[in-house]
Amino acid sequence: MDCIFCKIIKGEIKSEILYETNDFIVINDISHMANKHYLIIPKKHFAYLNEVDEEKSKIIANIMLNMNDIEKALKLEEGYRLVINQRSNAGQTVNHLHMHILGGEKLSDKFN
Ligand code: 5GP
Ligand code: ZN
Repeated sequence: MDCIFCKIIKGEIKSEILYETNDFIVINDISHMANKHYLIIPKKHFAYLNEVDEEKSKIIANIMLNMNDIEKALKLEEGYRLVINQRSNAGQTVNHLHMHILGGEKLSDKFN
């Protein structure tokens, strides 16, 4: 499958892994929309939240269970925003579900 995030997970495209569990990795976004911009990427390929079943919900839950640790590892104690873009209206460009972590500065209070 021609998926850029699957290639990063398999190591076929080099990207520094900043945090990793059995279920997901955290990397720097290649193009920063904030001073700090990371991507949380499940190792299992799926594109959309509307595909979430019992198994995938555990991956999402594990991400949430690790946020305390991730905050510390990425020094995000002053706050951050988590964003999940879904399909065209949100401008999703990579069809492998991922969460953006935006931080490192006071973020705009607008979402658009
Ligand atoms: P989306 O627009 O789908 O929510 O977010 C996809 C994100 O992936 C974008 O912010 C884009 O900068 C990032 N991205 C695309 N290709 C690569 C890559 O090869 N490496 C990294 N680290 N980020 C990428
Ligand atoms: Zn993928």
